[in-house]
Amino acid sequence: MSYTMNVLEEVKQKNQGEPEFIQAATEILTTLQAYVDARPEYEEAGILERIVEPERSIIFRVPWVDDSGKIRTNRGYRVQFNSAIGPYKGGIRFHPSVSLSIMKFLGFEQVFKNSLTGLAMGGGKGGSDFDPKGKSDREIMAFCQSYMNELYRHIGANIDVPAGDIGVAGREVGFMYGQYKRLTSSFEGVFTGKGIVYGGSYARTEATGFGLAYLADEMLRQNGKSIEGKTVLVSGAGNVAIYAVQKVQQLGGKVVAMSDSNGFIYDSEGIDLDAIKDIKEVRRARIYEYLNYRPNAVYTEGRGIWGIPCDIAMPCATQNELLEPDAELLIKNGCFAVCEGANMPTTLEATELLQKNNILFAPGKAANAGGVSTSGLEMSQNSMRTSWTFDEVDQKLKGIMVTIFNNIAAAAKDAGAEGNYVVGANIAGFKKVAEAMMLQGAV
Ligand code: NDP
Repeated sequence: MSYTMNVLEEVKQKNQGEPEFIQAATEILTTLQAYVDARPEYEEAGILERIVEPERSIIFRVPWVDDSGKIRTNRGYRVQFNSAIGPYKGGIRFHPSVSLSIMKFLGFEQVFKNSLTGLAMGGGKGGSDFDPKGKSDREIMAFCQSYMNELYRHIGANIDVPAGDIGVAGREVGFMYGQYKRLTSSFEGVFTGKGIVYGGSYARTEATGFGLAYLADEMLRQNGKSIEGKTVLVSGAGNVAIYAVQKVQQLGGKVVAMSDSNGFIYDSEGIDLDAIKDIKEVRRARIYEYLNYRPNAVYTEGRGIWGIPCDIAMPCATQNELLEPDAELLIKNGCFAVCEGANMPTTLEATELLQKNNILFAPGKAANAGGVSTSGLEMSQNSMRTSWTFDEVDQKLKGIMVTIFNNIAAAAKDAGAEGNYVVGANIAGFKKVAEAMMLQGAV
């Protein structure tokens, strides 16, 4: 068996009960196989054995008091996966499904994604099985403060810089940042996604969704197509989905459907984004309320968004939300591009099927890298004690996304897999991290 496949077998043996992590490792190692096995120096330096093992996984108790006075307990995590090219960097997720497996898959993906941005950021991820849905602002604050009461000793502007993810946005980052500052007396760039008035960057809120649309646009352009006039599906209705829809609409695309974990809406006239923002960002309500704003739209309970005919599909909700039967429907209905806004939203089988049918496929670790890229820009602004305008940040973001696309396209071509951007992204992301690890010795 080849070196790469041996390591993958070992990953499967050692991490039983961690399906998401095994899935991410399988995707990455399988696509790296030809590249790594042709270069014995990686095996000599034990690069793969090291790269699949987090440098550190921290698991801790998070007790907090709910509004009825009852003490509740959740489990907190921070996986510091790889610091070869910079301080650990990656979001924090609050969702009942959070487990060590999900933290490790996200942290592992983040290592390669952050490398692709060209900025000096290592990879990490954190979170908790805390469910923010239906909690009061006070309960959210109590939880965030308690989570930080442990996390603060493991992070720092040059050590580990968390950000938002599912269930964590401006409000939660503010509460966690405030508690960090209180515990350490240090006002530093220890978080990204901060409020503008205390060190946040313009365009960070929009960055992941905008970046996704920029990368999709570039991929389509270089393949003789464009977003203009196309019908687009965007799953999810959170931070990534909302700003993906905004930019797709600005680029002339027509988004006809969005979803949340209860169901999806279809609006043949095109999604009214102001309505979605009001429902999701202001009122934190369910997506079926869209019908109160646009009575002609249709709401369907449950999953099924990928059955709507479209040209372009953008999964922006969560992992494993686009399955093989969904891919079959997309192909049957004439979809020609899938661009991942979420992390690992498409299963391995679905990805393979889409690629076999020549669907342009932009993998999340490249396509959603606009968020962490702009986080990198936020860190730069904090270090320089300066603030760039929205347009300055947006222009830099656009430049980064075009560069990422060119790099993954070139890496795919060099590997003899032209047009396979999964292979391209994994090789391009891996090369820099592996080289840094080799230069730093057995660490
Ligand atoms: P949000 O919490 O803002 O939104 C998530 C959306 O997806 C919500 O509409 C939510 O619905 C839906 N969703 C979440 N979990 C599920 C589920 N199990 N089944 C169905 N729907 C679900 O998160 P973000 O927009 O920040 O993140 C979305 C994805 O993008 C994640 O994969 C994240 O890792 C990735 N990402 C985010 C970045 C960022 O900057 N925020 C950067 C890069 C990647 P409901 O409200 O009903 O739960």
